[in-house]
Amino acid sequence: MKAPSFAYERAESLARACALLHQHAGNARILAGGQSLIPALNLRLSQPDLLIDISQLNELRHITVTATELVVGALTRHADIERSADVKRLFPVLTQAAAQIAHPAIRNRGTMGGSIALADPAAEWPAATLALDMSLTLASERGERRVPADSFFKGIYETGMAQDEMLKSIHIPLPAAGTRSAFGELTRRSGDYAITGAFVTARKSGATLSATRIAFFGVAGQPLLARGAMAALDGTTGDAAAVARAQACLAADLDPIADLYNTPATKLHLSRVLLARLVAQLA
Ligand SMILES: Cc1cc2nc3c(=O)[nH]c(=O)nc-3n(C[C@H](O)[C@H](O)[C@H](O)COP(=O)(O)OP(=O)(O)OC[C@H]3O[C@@H](n4cnc5c(N)ncnc54)[C@H](O)[C@@H]3O)c2cc1C
Repeated sequence: MKAPSFAYERAESLARACALLHQHAGNARILAGGQSLIPALNLRLSQPDLLIDISQLNELRHITVTATELVVGALTRHADIERSADVKRLFPVLTQAAAQIAHPAIRNRGTMGGSIALADPAAEWPAATLALDMSLTLASERGERRVPADSFFKGIYETGMAQDEMLKSIHIPLPAAGTRSAFGELTRRSGDYAITGAFVTARKSGATLSATRIAFFGVAGQPLLARGAMAALDGTTGDAAAVARAQACLAADLDPIADLYNTPATKLHLSRVLLARLVAQLA
């Protein structure tokens, strides 16, 4: 199939992109890397009146370290993250995860902001925002607001972004001393979307874990924090008994839904296997 007809404008500034979003309330779409939007247009899953091309807004393509956080511009591509020395030093799980997103051609065009704005429940970046306690700056003609990732994802491809808002930047708090993180996903073939995937992060003092955060993707209608499992691991050493309790909690935490190939029971089982592997990596 071919895309339906639409108008097109290349925005020369963030302000112009916001003005266009405002004018076309609900009938315009931002075009970033195009790796999800163009297929959606061709399948006629999306039929906007206007595409606002932001791909030339270089001010939105950066990775910046401040005293308190790593700031990633929304237009930063998956491949930029994969290759960034700062990301590798501060958040090696993001380097690992970037390498699992699709294939090099897609990683060279697709953007972190596009992935988070799309809110595909099977995508890596939305879950990363939860595990690493990120916040997001949204821009519109009305100004900017910063929202915690925790409250951003609302359902399948659904976020708390208003129709006239766009994602400007992603903020990742620098890790506290003693923070350990692990990432993994189980796929049928390399480059496929995950059957289940997770990011785990915790602070270690001595052998004891605290501030544990576990975010899963690919199992439910949106990325989610496995809050029961997090509580089961906090204050423990991540020993076998604690892991077993955390694994038991996943049934209620995840309540998995089937995909084309896997039943909810398979997804739950694989999520439990993955959790044990990732907690072992924290050690
Ligand atoms: C074959 C294939 C395999 C893939 N595999 C994976 C995978 O394994 N894991 C994974 O995570 N992704 C995967 N993807 C998706 C890919 O990572 C996309 O790049 C990403 O989801 C969207 O980024 P984009 O920059 O291409 O966004 P676009 O396609 O340009 O836009 C996607 C949506 O987000 C909106 N949008 C984009 N940027 C903004 C913004 N700054 N503010 C507000 N709204 C915005 C658009 O309007 C659109 O609705 C795959 C894609 C393909 C085609």
